[in-house]
Amino acid sequence: MSFWFWNGLKRGIQSTRYPRLPETTPGVTPGRPMATTFASAEEAAHAASGCPVGAITAAGREALIDLRTCIHCQRCRFGGSPPVEWVNDFEWTQLARTQTSFEPLNRSFQRSLHIMVVDAGDCGACLREIKQLNNPLYNIHRLGLFFTPTPRTADVLLVVGPVTENMRGPLEKTYHAMPQPKKVVAVGTCAITGGVFGRTFASAGGAGMVLPVDLEVPGDPPPPLAILHGLLVLTGRKSLQLSQTAAAS
Ligand code: SF4
Repeated sequence: MSFWFWNGLKRGIQSTRYPRLPETTPGVTPGRPMATTFASAEEAAHAASGCPVGAITAAGREALIDLRTCIHCQRCRFGGSPPVEWVNDFEWTQLARTQTSFEPLNRSFQRSLHIMVVDAGDCGACLREIKQLNNPLYNIHRLGLFFTPTPRTADVLLVVGPVTENMRGPLEKTYHAMPQPKKVVAVGTCAITGGVFGRTFASAGGAGMVLPVDLEVPGDPPPPLAILHGLLVLTGRKSLQLSQTAAAS
């Protein structure tokens, strides 16, 4: 019998209490690597050299993490010797690289926010995590968050995927069809920096190369609660936990 079945019976309800209460159920997040101080500069350099996408930078004994490029392979956690530190949180939404400040939508959106999702070349992982927000565990309708199939009624654009050349035009058309005020969130490493696809003749290298992205939700893919945190930040119900500088370290 599944853990979630017993958990539901024990708690009496299926839906998470987040954001009213912290969500600490095992398995709701893969966590993230943290900046780590090693015993020697050699150990930090070893950790940096083991990252397949160069998301770890050694600075003396420090190993700094760039969450914008991290693909969550966890090699630095289980394959490194010694490992970098790991934290099991999910409130890691950060300001987009091109922004210097963030102003949330006004309070009227706190109980009615309509979200349009554009698959701009996604592999399916980030889309699947977004889809889970509608299941009984996350149940985002209770928070006044609704998905919409049309940009005409959308307040927020969630972009997943590195933005392939074929999707650049449709993505721009979707954005321009949305009414003001509107926000754009890049969900997942591919939508933030292009991920493992990078910037090529076939890939724009992230939504920020095409649209004015406001917020980024790192992860490959980010768990549903991390995406939910980003939506709550948009409406001012949660604050940005990581500054741009801290998130890159
Ligand atoms: S989890 Fe992220 S930082 Fe660690 S090795 Fe993988 S890509 Fe690099």
